Amino acid sequence: MCSVGDSFGVELEGGMEPHEYECNHCGKTFRGIGMGQTCPKCHSKDVKCIE
Ligand SMILES: [Zn+2]
Repeated sequence: MCSVGDSFGVELEGGMEPHEYECNHCGKTFRGIGMGQTCPKCHSKDVKCIE
């Protein structure tokens, strides 16, 4: 009962799970939920999900 993968149903895809983001502008990494994240350091919206 330890297997993770194949038969595990995908839930909450892009939903409430927090993801790690990296700012393309200053390189700051932070966690956020959902789309449209803004860098907490430089307030740039040019961020990418790295997790
Ligand atoms: Zn930034």
